[in-house]
Amino acid sequence: MNADQPAADRSRQDDRFRSTPRTVRSGQTLMKITFFGHSALQIRTEDTTILVDPFITGNPLAEPVVSAADLTPDVILITHAHGDHWGDTPAIARRTGALVVANFEITEYLRKKHGHENVLAMNTGGAAEFPWGRITQTYARHSSSFPDGTYGGNPCGYLVESGARCVYVAGDTSPFAEMAWIGEELDVSVALLPVGDTFTMGPRASLRAIRMLDPAVAVPTHFNTFPPIRIDVEAWAKLVHDTGFVARVLKPGESMAVETD
Ligand SMILES: [Zn+2]
Repeated sequence: MNADQPAADRSRQDDRFRSTPRTVRSGQTLMKITFFGHSALQIRTEDTTILVDPFITGNPLAEPVVSAADLTPDVILITHAHGDHWGDTPAIARRTGALVVANFEITEYLRKKHGHENVLAMNTGGAAEFPWGRITQTYARHSSSFPDGTYGGNPCGYLVESGARCVYVAGDTSPFAEMAWIGEELDVSVALLPVGDTFTMGPRASLRAIRMLDPAVAVPTHFNTFPPIRIDVEAWAKLVHDTGFVARVLKPGESMAVETD
């Protein structure tokens, strides 16, 4: 750096260096996804644990592999207020003090009904920066109400970016045309898509979503938890492969490393 440079310029340059993503050495795992079953999953960066839709208690896929009391997230992302996504949020948030990220209606409900103040309200299209990366709230075509009938705001999905990795959590949704914008603007490393049909897109419709998103790997969620969303997930994986994409089915409790595209 030129010592004659004005101080303001120097500090700007320093800021730029600080915000540069850490160099990813080949083979180094900076992001890991652990699937608990249904839509409950965890994304780990090097130093941060992000829990998504922690429906554990009463979830027949998750209960054999994890207990809500064992989870210690730093951040909890909620896609909408339905019980099969909201799940154990109040208990886990209270015990861990985790930052809960959701729409305004959900964060207000958590503050007023459960006294949890560490929340971040977002809305569709908004992004938030963290030391470890960035979260963007995305559109989802679904509905959202709490188990007690309280209005739960708009449903959503999330883009979780850390370094060169980008994980798209679609939430409960059908395919929607703007998924193509996500695919154009970002190199999606992993797309977590609901495929169980009845309440969300099913296997065939998910192919349209995958073509738009063009992810390095597509991972299915929201299937086989209850009879209405029972599907042949291996047949889904074959459909994805036959369409020219990569599918990875995670068993409850199973983890995968997130590689760059
Ligand atoms: Zn659901």
